[in-house]
Amino acid sequence: MKVTVFGIGYVGLVQAAVLAEVGHDVLCIDVDEAKVENLKQGLIPIFEPGLTPLVMQNYEAGRLNFSTNAEEGVKHGVMQFIAVGTPPDEDGSADLKYVTAVARTIAQYMDEHKVVLDKSTVPVGTADKVRSVMQETLNARGVELTFDVVSNPEFLKEGAAVSDCMRPERIVVGTDNEDVVDLLRELYEPFNRNHDRMILMDIRSAELTKYAANCMLATKISFMNEISNLAERLGADVEKVRQGIGSDPRIGYHFIYPGCGYGGSCFPKDVQALIRTAESIGYNSRLLQAVEDVNDAQKMKLPAFIKRHFGEDLKGKTFALWGLAFKPNTDDMREASSRVLMETLWAAGATVQAFDPEAMDEAQRIYGHRSDLRLMGTKEAALQGCDGLVICTEWQSFRAPDFDLIKKSLKQPVIFDGRNLYDPERINKRGFTYYAIGRGESI
Ligand code: NAD
Repeated sequence: MKVTVFGIGYVGLVQAAVLAEVGHDVLCIDVDEAKVENLKQGLIPIFEPGLTPLVMQNYEAGRLNFSTNAEEGVKHGVMQFIAVGTPPDEDGSADLKYVTAVARTIAQYMDEHKVVLDKSTVPVGTADKVRSVMQETLNARGVELTFDVVSNPEFLKEGAAVSDCMRPERIVVGTDNEDVVDLLRELYEPFNRNHDRMILMDIRSAELTKYAANCMLATKISFMNEISNLAERLGADVEKVRQGIGSDPRIGYHFIYPGCGYGGSCFPKDVQALIRTAESIGYNSRLLQAVEDVNDAQKMKLPAFIKRHFGEDLKGKTFALWGLAFKPNTDDMREASSRVLMETLWAAGATVQAFDPEAMDEAQRIYGHRSDLRLMGTKEAALQGCDGLVICTEWQSFRAPDFDLIKKSLKQPVIFDGRNLYDPERINKRGFTYYAIGRGESI
């Protein structure tokens, strides 16, 4: 099938590559000329396991193409995916300007029936907005054409995006037109063979499903962080509590890790957006507000530990930071805990020596102008001459480090661990002072 994808980000690029891999003819459109040019040269703008060969092979085979020419994009596919960003507006609600811009573009250039599939995470009611923007544009052109607007939210996880799209747990389709379902079944058939993963519903429910999923996951994290704060004050170890509750299948072990707060491009913005949606209809979402408040406070835990240990004034101090990405296996630093940590340390006069296996370019892009950030080539180099080690991301390569080397490299053997990677007893025996999340008397 001929498919067009607007927006070559984490969602658009991965989805496009996966659709091309199974044989569809995919054209990706983005407004970012440099991104499009780089892709044509084989330079992939994001780190995602397995993505580079997939993009290269399908580009070389001619099934995956990139362009900034929106008209060409609209003419190409019967299926028109919208996969552009929906960043938070000033008040936290989802900013739909990129989504409506694409809707306008499609209506501007279409000359036959189009199926517009919304992959971006958008508030309930957005399909109606897309429809009216498109209809206004068609009216202004004075042409009569039909189109469908479908909600088809994306559930991929950064860091596992390719395999999530290749083997989706569910394909949520929100539509008010039965005829579209058949086209979507054909499009997704290669991913839907083992059993039927397609969940059909009305458009509003599909739009809300995406927010409900992300808000549920954010709630699990904030709940565990709340328990970790209690554990810390009560002399309990949240890691033992986690194992104790995870053994109940109604709770499960997934996604109940305490830590220094959730980040990324989705949870913070989607929790906020649903709070704003609730407000807009006069409903006070107390639970979601608490989820956000707990997370904001959690991001301040590591800076608070550091100040407890070294005092409020950190002038002249340098900290090694392991982990800049908001989670492992990605280079994405949007809303990452590391950013709150670094900005708080800098405000108190400290310098940061950081290492991340994948997010160094991104850190350079965001903070390259700062003289109080040194980006180091290895995790060992980041330790040299520092006053303490701080861990913000649970990369595999941080899990079993050379503790003797850490001790030798630091001025003081102190570790501030935002991901509870180490056993407190063992690490204390090695002579470290160890600050972790919710580990009671160990700190
Ligand atoms: P992103 O910021 O990585 O990419 C968005 C792309 O859209 C950019 O390349 C941008 O240049 C492009 N763009 C903006 N306006 C455009 C226009 N008019 N025409 C063509 N391209 C345009 O965003 P992302 O992380 O891929 O997220 C996209 C959407 O998917 C968001 O709504 C997000 O909430 C949702 N989502 C993201 C994830 C994730 O893990 N990143 C997962 C599921 C859903």
